[in-house]
Amino acid sequence: MIDLPPPFDALWFRMITGLVVGLALGSFVTMLSYRLPLRLSIIKPDSHCPVCKTPLTARDLLPVLSWLASRGQCRHCGVKISARYPLIELATGLCCMIAFAVVGFQMWLLAAILGIVATITFIVIRLEH
Ligand SMILES: [Zn+2]
Repeated sequence: MIDLPPPFDALWFRMITGLVVGLALGSFVTMLSYRLPLRLSIIKPDSHCPVCKTPLTARDLLPVLSWLASRGQCRHCGVKISARYPLIELATGLCCMIAFAVVGFQMWLLAAILGIVATITFIVIRLEH
């Protein structure tokens, strides 16, 4: 593990960092697991409401929090947004939190993160298709 000065070496710091990074990656996993089976581009278009096509802004894209704040509905047309989004984000966040806590800040952490993203994406695709 890389020697870091306090508080960067603390367990709580690694766990919070892992949770935040994992929630952001979880948002990426929701996109991957939705678009890959449909053979859609993972680059374009930007995320949008599937019903009213309104592009999502930063306010709509905060993992878990945006879904909770909008009570699981599109802010524009009110269509219900599946709980798959916050659940996948939360699962990825928790897995990354554990990886950051156990592995710490070292090269293997990148491998662990890649493994988590690939595994959760694979599981979600298998469950939904
Ligand atoms: Zn909408």
